[in-house]
Amino acid sequence: MQGIQEPVRVPVDLYGRPRRRRGWRRRWWWAVLACGACVATTGAGLAVWTAGGPDRHASATDASRIGPSRSAVVVNGRVQPPRVPVQRAASGRYRLVPGVAAPPRGTGFLVRYAVEVEQGLPFRASRFAAEVHRVLNDPRGWGRGGRLRFVRVARGPVKFRVSLSSPALTDRMCLPARTGGWLSCFARGRSVINARRWGLGAAPYGADLARYREYLINHEVGHALGHGHLGCPGQGRVAPVMVQQTKSLYGCRANPWPYPRLAVRAGRGPRLGSHHAHDQKGGLP
Ligand SMILES: [Zn+2]
Repeated sequence: MQGIQEPVRVPVDLYGRPRRRRGWRRRWWWAVLACGACVATTGAGLAVWTAGGPDRHASATDASRIGPSRSAVVVNGRVQPPRVPVQRAASGRYRLVPGVAAPPRGTGFLVRYAVEVEQGLPFRASRFAAEVHRVLNDPRGWGRGGRLRFVRVARGPVKFRVSLSSPALTDRMCLPARTGGWLSCFARGRSVINARRWGLGAAPYGADLARYREYLINHEVGHALGHGHLGCPGQGRVAPVMVQQTKSLYGCRANPWPYPRLAVRAGRGPRLGSHHAHDQKGGLP
C-alpha cells in the first residue's frame, strides 16, 4: 500500500485535470492566492481549493481563451476533495436520498441499503450518496469483488443506513457510546458518519481526505455487516479496516479497504490476493 505522502499543489481545470503552468507572473499570483487560503484554513492545516486562482487577474482575452480555473491539492496521486468546515449542529432531521442506485451486474447476494443526510449540512446529498455507493461496490470493498452487491434504495426494508450527521446529531445517535463530537459510530441500524470528519479528515490520514473518506464508510459499514474492532497486527503492517484509524494507526499503515489486495483481471472477474486484511465473518444477510 502507498504510504502517506506530502501534498503537492497543482493547478487543475474544471474537471480536476492538471493544467500546464504559464510563465512566472502566473505562478507568482497563484502562490499569493494559495497562501491567503492557507491562512484562512489554518485549523485544518491545509488549503485545498483556491477559488478563482490566477485567472482572476488574467486579461479578459486570456480568461475567455482558457476559462475559469482552480487549484487543488494532489495526495497519493489523487486530486483531493475540498476541505469543508462543519458546524457543531444542523437541523437534527435526516432526509432520505431519493431514488435507486443500481448494484453492479453479477450473481452476488444483493444487499439493500439507504443513505440519509441531515438537513442543513454543507454537503450535497446526491454526491455523498454517490461516493458511498462507489466505495461499497469497489472490488476492494465489503462486496469482495461481487460476492455481495449493494443496491441503494429509498423504500422498503434495508440492511443498514449510511447517515451523514453533524457532530451534535452524531453524539445523540451514538449514545451510549461517547463520540465526543469527533468520532463516528454504528448504532441501531445506522452507520453514523460524523460530517465534521467527512469534511476535514483525521490526523492519521494526513492530507489524504479522499482516502480517509473511503476508510470512514468502510469502517462504519463494516459494523453494519457484523464486524467488530481489530488491533494493528504489527509494526509497519497494513491496518485492517476495522482498526479505529481515526484515533491512531497504532504503528500500522493506513488502509481504507476491507480487501486491499483484491485485484480485478480484465474480462476474468475478480481474483483474491494471497493475503487479506482479515476474513469476513458473520452478520451478513
Ligand atoms: Zn468502529
